Amino acid sequence: SITLDTFDASLAEALQGEIQRQEDHVELIASENYASPLVMAVQNTVFTNKYAEGYPGRRYYSGCEYVDQAEQLAIDRAKALFNCDYANVQPHAGAQANAAVFLALVQPGDTVMGMNLAQGGHLTHGNPSNFSGRHYNIVPYGLDPETGLIDYDEMERIALETRPKLLIGGFSAYSRRKDWGRMRAIADKVGALFWVDMAHVAGLVAAGEYPDPLPHAHVVTSTTHKTLRGPRGGLILSKGQDEEFYKRLDSAIFPGVQGGPLMHQIAAKAVAFKEALAPEFRSYQQQVVINARAMATVIQARGYKVVSGGTDNHMMLIDLIGRSYTGKEADAALSEAWITTNKNSVPNDPRSPFVTSGLRIGTPAVTTRGFGVAECEQLAGWLCDVLDALGSADRDAVIARAREQVLSLCRRYPVYA
Ligand code: PLP
Repeated sequence: SITLDTFDASLAEALQGEIQRQEDHVELIASENYASPLVMAVQNTVFTNKYAEGYPGRRYYSGCEYVDQAEQLAIDRAKALFNCDYANVQPHAGAQANAAVFLALVQPGDTVMGMNLAQGGHLTHGNPSNFSGRHYNIVPYGLDPETGLIDYDEMERIALETRPKLLIGGFSAYSRRKDWGRMRAIADKVGALFWVDMAHVAGLVAAGEYPDPLPHAHVVTSTTHKTLRGPRGGLILSKGQDEEFYKRLDSAIFPGVQGGPLMHQIAAKAVAFKEALAPEFRSYQQQVVINARAMATVIQARGYKVVSGGTDNHMMLIDLIGRSYTGKEADAALSEAWITTNKNSVPNDPRSPFVTSGLRIGTPAVTTRGFGVAECEQLAGWLCDVLDALGSADRDAVIARAREQVLSLCRRYPVYA
């Protein structure tokens, strides 16, 4: 019989390499996680073969009775998980969910306010190189340069001055709680709709470990593969709005920005939401936050600055401004030690987004593989060892030692045992 090894040895080699890398390297990229074997198994099913444009019960193709069942399960579970009355589980990814919100709620040229990418926002919140920045008049808000916290007074001042139609909450790099109520009040003051992109913290929100945006926002988007630990994908949620509003969101996804939904991904979302409804998911998310705090404490004790002085969620930013190396160099050195992070701009960063003076690290993935506080403290120590050694004569020796320590820790906690 044909196997991947015999049919396509080159691809099989890439796959084997990736399997080994995920087992042997420590994953600290804050947006990554390990989906469960069940979630992955469902992605690998005949659901992938089915065209199902439309929504359950009203499709443009025949033969949709079983995919309808799967999608309805995903919808019902998403609503139960986030205690809301509208869920669209079709977005192929977070970016498509966000594109649909723009399409549904504003017109090209309208003023939209989002968090500056350089200070923690996402590309789809108005970066000039993204569709959002090209088609809308984006007014960014950001952080207080002293505290590294969101400056709500400044946000309100800008909103009153520029009168946006849409205010975006949510972030890719911010380690503190966001005050959704305050943001909604600002939106109301200027007659804007309030949209929260909770992609990074969706799992924490589901578990009650991070402020829930749904009671405050007109619409909430998310990815399903970060803290939520599902398959790659997107999600749109809402609560307390009228049917006309929900219809606008549905038609913005299909036929607005997508064609046929990825039914294998949607079925896998249904499984992931069921996992997230189980009590163990809550203790997992609690551990994610505890682990992040433990890492931040060690990193600060070792003399590194953490933006805003710590973390209340799953991630933090290490500020390397004034060091003899860049975020890019730090990222590369850690990579050699099999510690995977990403370079990230920090407030007042003098360097370009491709070089940066910061690192973003997060604990969702290491917590999934079983690391607790002790392991996270050790790991933070090795990370600081590598940073300390940058530019010194024993750089390579320190990296080699860290890599051995990382590997032996990873062997104790296999991802897919
Ligand atoms: N929104 C936020 C806040 C994100 O951090 C990300 C991804 O990093 C996205 C949206 C985009 O998600 P995707 O990569 O699935 O398009």
